[in-house]
Amino acid sequence: MIIVMEMGATESQVNHVVSLLREMGLREHIIVGTERTVVAALGDDRAKDKDKLENAPGVEKVMPVLAPYKMASREVKKERTVVALGGSLGGSVGGKKVALIAGPCSVEDRSQLLEIAHAVKEAGATGLRGGAFKPRTSPYAFQGLGEKGLQILAQAREKTGLAVVTEVMSIEQVPLVCQYADVLQVGARNMQNYNLLWAVGEQKKPVLLKRGLSATLEEFLLAAEYIMSRGNSNVMLCERGIRTFEKYCRNTLPLAIVPEVHRISHLPIVVDPSQGTGHAHLVPDMCKAAVACGADGLIVEVHNDPEHALTDGAQSVTPQSLKATMASLKRIAAAIDRDI
Ligand code: PEP
Ligand code: MN
Repeated sequence: MIIVMEMGATESQVNHVVSLLREMGLREHIIVGTERTVVAALGDDRAKDKDKLENAPGVEKVMPVLAPYKMASREVKKERTVVALGGSLGGSVGGKKVALIAGPCSVEDRSQLLEIAHAVKEAGATGLRGGAFKPRTSPYAFQGLGEKGLQILAQAREKTGLAVVTEVMSIEQVPLVCQYADVLQVGARNMQNYNLLWAVGEQKKPVLLKRGLSATLEEFLLAAEYIMSRGNSNVMLCERGIRTFEKYCRNTLPLAIVPEVHRISHLPIVVDPSQGTGHAHLVPDMCKAAVACGADGLIVEVHNDPEHALTDGAQSVTPQSLKATMASLKRIAAAIDRDI
């Protein structure tokens, strides 16, 4: 970090800043300008508390130079992380091939899930999504089938080879969900549930971490850092839209995050145009836009009978629509030297 002293700051104030830096285990490089003095802190200051310095007499401002996240940053790892999804189809996220993870919002019953699983596999998916534990806004809404839903997902994997991607909502659920899932999804509402992030960081399955409804990119990457700091570096970020003043869509889907994540992090980023827009008619075009701007994967809600879906029917596309979209996505991926 860089500490900018106020104009007219005294030598003893500068010396005090230097002693605070040394107390923190850092070294100093002092630049005396004609107008003011600047102190550069030398050493890794990411875990240091810059508030102490901000309150020191004579300090005007403290500016971080390094990103506060470390393991998630490109400063620390230049090569892109490729996360293997599991299942027997060999899908991965972060390589040349854009991954498609598709399936219903929630697992409703066996025949619904198997029918959709076969259809999304045929469309080119390597991952099957479906919630068994659902974070619902209303406590009276369908909450998911729980373990029964996980069993159905595992049966669908057996029949199709698709990797199972499903949400874990609490620390207590981690061992159970791990028994059945290939990828643990941490939902938007839990992005800042730090104890849950630690818990998924302490097990070995890859994690799909969704962006919080009002989280900044920095907070999002710090949430990934929580998982990675406990030993699990198989983290996929997922942009699923943020809450804004806009009403024509359920959430606002900020796709500029895709190239920005690629610039500052080595982690792959998946886009969820279903939660991201809330409307099935917007999903195909946002899939195309996401692939065009470099998304490493898409996670799409697909239902064989959206009108009767128990959750998120309005934003679920049909298998036929997904297939048609995939034909365009192949051409878009080719245009940017990728496949899907
Ligand atoms: C979902 O994937 O169905 C879901 C609830 O996602 P999010 O956590 O992004 O709202
Ligand atoms: Mn949903």
